[in-house]
Amino acid sequence: MSVLPAAMNAALLSEHGRLDVSSIPVPEPGPGEVLCRVLACGICGTDLKIVRGDFAGVWPPSLPFVIGHEWSGEVAALGPDTARSGLSVGDRVVAENHAGCSACPMCRSGRYNLCERVGEPGFKLYGHTAPGALAEFAVRPAVALHRVPRSVDDAAAALVNQGALTVHAARRVGLTAGATVAVYGPGLLGLLMLQVARASGAAAAVVVGRGERLRTAAELGATHLVDYEVDDPAAGVRAVTGGRGVDVVFDCSGNPAVLAQAVRSVRRGGKVAILGLAGGARAEVAVDAFALDELDLLGVRSSPNAYPAMISLLAAGAIRTDLLTADRYALADVGVAFEALAQRTAIRPIILPSK
Ligand SMILES: [Zn+2]
Ligand SMILES: [Zn+2]
Repeated sequence: MSVLPAAMNAALLSEHGRLDVSSIPVPEPGPGEVLCRVLACGICGTDLKIVRGDFAGVWPPSLPFVIGHEWSGEVAALGPDTARSGLSVGDRVVAENHAGCSACPMCRSGRYNLCERVGEPGFKLYGHTAPGALAEFAVRPAVALHRVPRSVDDAAAALVNQGALTVHAARRVGLTAGATVAVYGPGLLGLLMLQVARASGAAAAVVVGRGERLRTAAELGATHLVDYEVDDPAAGVRAVTGGRGVDVVFDCSGNPAVLAQAVRSVRRGGKVAILGLAGGARAEVAVDAFALDELDLLGVRSSPNAYPAMISLLAAGAIRTDLLTADRYALADVGVAFEALAQRTAIRPIILPSK
């Protein structure tokens, strides 16, 4: 076993709006915890907002702070009381960002994404309230880790976090073979939702967006495209289904105005799933449609029990990642990577901290 260094490079949020690559101590794994070498870490819209200070005082609670929550790595050292984890040094892994308290009613029913103790001291949401993975090393509880086979490369594995969210969404709506779906917002989340929906049996998948990302959606299995800069989105979606509307709408846009369009896009008795956050914004919707058309509105948070399924989909080659992970950066270029995300020139900038 190689000797671990005492210090590591990390992208440190020292003041809002500013990330500096600094040398900080390598964290030590406590009881039940594992030290991982970070191999790939994606940065997402939430990271942009955290850096900007949109959630200051909460995500993170204080500065300086290491962000990063969409990553893959390998086990570098096992802390005490990890013998039953089944993990060994060198295993390639991905991490869930919280493990839940395992004691509250939600955790005990398997819905640990809704742990009722999130507000209590000691609750850790890694990359948000506890140190993230935009660094050479990161510590996580062994129970939050999942092994990844060699056939899934480091950058693809860094997509498991977002992909598992879309697996959870497909389960929430009870997606069935032959379904018609619409995906609003072809960012990384939407492009994974599209592919997971197709892999789950969706026969028709309409993607609503604009620009280059619609062409990417077509390459990744969209059967129809609606450019909202050209057409009314809901009318475009309905036209594809002979005016009837789709069975399910997945809102991956994070734009509050989309909810009203989603309600107009879905068939009677259909389902609308909301993935992601709109930054506290409010939406105006036709309330009567929910009663008169018996619509189901489903929130989707995190990815309980969904990591193994997403890893399996990637290992099986059911999800294409090459177009989603093409933009890769060294840790020293983290500022350039953030700019690429902000300017929409990269779908998902991937940092390779150990390169
Ligand atoms: Zn994210
Ligand atoms: Zn709990």
